[in-house]
Amino acid sequence: MQLDHFYIDGHWQAAQTDHVHDILNPATGLTIGTVALGDEQHVDAAVTAAKQAFPSFAKTSIAERLELLHRLLDIYRSRYDDFVMAITQEMGAPVTLSREAQAYCGIEHLEATIKALEGFQFVQPFEGYALHHEPVGVCGLITPWNWPVNQIVCKVAPAIAAGCTMVLKPSEFAPLSAQLFAEVVAASGLPSGVFNMVYGDGVGVGAPLASHPDVDMISFTGSTAAGVAVAQGAAPTVKRVSQELGGKSPILVADDVDLENVIPECVSLCMDNSGQSCNAGTRLIVPAHQHDRIVGLARAAAESYIVGDPLDDDTQLGPLANVRQFEKVRALLAQAKQEGLEAVTGGIDAMSNDKAGYFVPPTVFGSLTNDQLIAREEVFGPVLAILPYASHEEAIKIANETPYGLSAYVYAKNPDIAASWASDVRAGMVHINGAPLSPNAPFGGYKQSGNGREWGHYGLHEFIEVKAVMATNDESEA
Ligand code: NAD
Repeated sequence: MQLDHFYIDGHWQAAQTDHVHDILNPATGLTIGTVALGDEQHVDAAVTAAKQAFPSFAKTSIAERLELLHRLLDIYRSRYDDFVMAITQEMGAPVTLSREAQAYCGIEHLEATIKALEGFQFVQPFEGYALHHEPVGVCGLITPWNWPVNQIVCKVAPAIAAGCTMVLKPSEFAPLSAQLFAEVVAASGLPSGVFNMVYGDGVGVGAPLASHPDVDMISFTGSTAAGVAVAQGAAPTVKRVSQELGGKSPILVADDVDLENVIPECVSLCMDNSGQSCNAGTRLIVPAHQHDRIVGLARAAAESYIVGDPLDDDTQLGPLANVRQFEKVRALLAQAKQEGLEAVTGGIDAMSNDKAGYFVPPTVFGSLTNDQLIAREEVFGPVLAILPYASHEEAIKIANETPYGLSAYVYAKNPDIAASWASDVRAGMVHINGAPLSPNAPFGGYKQSGNGREWGHYGLHEFIEVKAVMATNDESEA
């Protein structure tokens, strides 16, 4: 499969470049295609199209934009199975995970955006002024590979809802689902130039998009290092930069919970999607007097995973998504061993050198402290750190001792303990006793996990400028 066209100004345009990236199936390591990598000229053409489309798209009515979003949703549903297979092929998610969660995110975000748009007040009267909410302008959308459709749709849908025009640069490691999504957009009747897509890598396409003077906002999801580079590139043109970055999220466990049930659930918060979720619960903070029992339960849960071919319905964990991520995780596990950290299960010694594909066994480390490598670094693989605490105060101190602040998970039967941990943790999202994410709740982090909020109402608000229109009361209510 050769992806050698970019979607610009309502047309598929030949990339006309020899610069390509191999698309590898992470379960086999074999090449399944290539994707063209764009450059500054492609970015410029796409931004020009988006800029030209903006004035008229910004003036479309809410009803028109709702109709477009409903059409996108219908077409997306009609191609659902294609998305499932594309995600599994390009990043190795087990087919059940692709079907039940990865591809389903597209539907959830379109529905949540429609709901947010229906309830959004674009003009709000106040005493002496009215607050007008207007689209921010031309947006650059840069997305990663780990939840590829999720991140594309949770940016594109609210950008459309707000009346913005956009240039999407999906991850070069996950172009198959991006291609499908662009095909969905192309079939939806969205006016030419509103949505444009250029494939490319960070340096060739991401950086020129971030620094482009005609781009008004960058919505970036990815690593903290690349997010910083994007913000630096964007700074001279003072554009808005919304960042959704990395995480090292804590799971706080009190000693009054049913450990037999709770610990396997905690392990899945880390391992699902092979540990490649920004909000994965990767630091399990447990009462010291229960530590050894919890390590035993975590080990049993980790060893129970069926790891293998992502196309098999029984598989629970697939490979890591690409060779770059695989090498990063392997290097971290090797370094952990050099630093004297022994995995309770998994780890570098359990990695087979002769197996095809980028498989890493579910790995658990016990008795860690926050200054140790595996407790400190965002591994982005199926690697759980277990850290003991002596008091509830120490537990929250350990939880907050990180530059990240994306998610936190709290397990406590005593509602006072749950409430106090939920209040004291410095994170953008807290899940109490296994409560799941809501597509309508704001998704985003504190500290170096980013400064943006996506999904639902707040996600729509990211793409909005506010204008205070000072007038007499009569005029301001007009
Ligand atoms: P990455 O930072 O390497 O790449 C993300 C995107 O940025 C890709 O499209 C890439 O091509 C582009 N990019 C890279 N360098 C760039 C540069 N200098 N300028 C402009 N664009 C650039 O991240 P990744 O490996 O694709 O994804 C994994 C990371 O993403 C993890 O750190 C994870 O925590 C984070 N993530 C965060 C969230 C969140 O919502 N907070 C969600 C998913 C992933």
